[in-house]
Amino acid sequence: MRYEGNLYRPPSEARSLIIQATIGCSHNQCTFCSMYKDKQFRIRSLEEIMEDLETAKKQFPKVERIFLADGNALALKTEKLKEILLKIKELFPECQRVSIYSGPKDILRKSLDELKTLNELGLSIAYLGIESGSDNILTKINKGVTAQEITEAGKKIMASGIKLSATIISGLGSKENWEEHALASAKVASEINPDYLALLTLLVQPGTKLYEDVNSGKFQLLTPKEVLKETKVFIENLDLDNCVFRSNHASNYVTLAGTLSQEQDKLLNTIESALEDEGDNFIKEEGFRRL
Ligand code: SF4
Repeated sequence: MRYEGNLYRPPSEARSLIIQATIGCSHNQCTFCSMYKDKQFRIRSLEEIMEDLETAKKQFPKVERIFLADGNALALKTEKLKEILLKIKELFPECQRVSIYSGPKDILRKSLDELKTLNELGLSIAYLGIESGSDNILTKINKGVTAQEITEAGKKIMASGIKLSATIISGLGSKENWEEHALASAKVASEINPDYLALLTLLVQPGTKLYEDVNSGKFQLLTPKEVLKETKVFIENLDLDNCVFRSNHASNYVTLAGTLSQEQDKLLNTIESALEDEGDNFIKEEGFRRL
């Protein structure tokens, strides 16, 4: 296996074989993101990807999960993705799921029929960073897409049969726009109604534009209790059907997990308890938060 640079994968892919279909992220301009700053984006050749799969077969005869990285591996042409999925079926017939990082524009570039075909060939989960549902905030973080485009992309994945795991980042609206962030993000998430919804908490990484803005005072970070207040408004305004909600990432101050909207009250009670606790016993210390 020839991995290039640092590898990133969602926490739920901890047991997956990672195959780099792309190197880096084709956008690579979000102000908060440091993940692929050291990489020049490129799509790997089919030969390289196939070689990695063959090598993996020799090292790991049984592979049940495969994650296609880097940043937005769905940027690959559909024909190429089809060949990769067919090769996975041939080499690892026991593989139960193939998942992928996807960007909104890459999803929108594919037709619904193309996405359905990829699903039929084994692509089972797409990870999509919504980050925020507010156009104002999406512009500030330089996400390169509108809330409408993200909504359309998310809905398209849902319609294709591929399961959708979406993420939103708490704190991304700063002190100035926290409420707008909570309300607009709840609206977009509710419209998409993803299978899985993760709420991460903003971590400021050195080397990013956001890091400079925080240091210069241009961007004001929320305190842990302000993050919880924002989370409360976000959850109160979600209207989801059978969505697995998780806010249990290493970046989060308080662990939340439940099925929404069925367990909305349980999550809100947990937040309320943490907000009322003057000793901050429920809140993870800053030094223990990480990406
Ligand atoms: S957040 Fe996603 S789209 Fe934005 S630069 Fe990072 S990997 Fe690329």
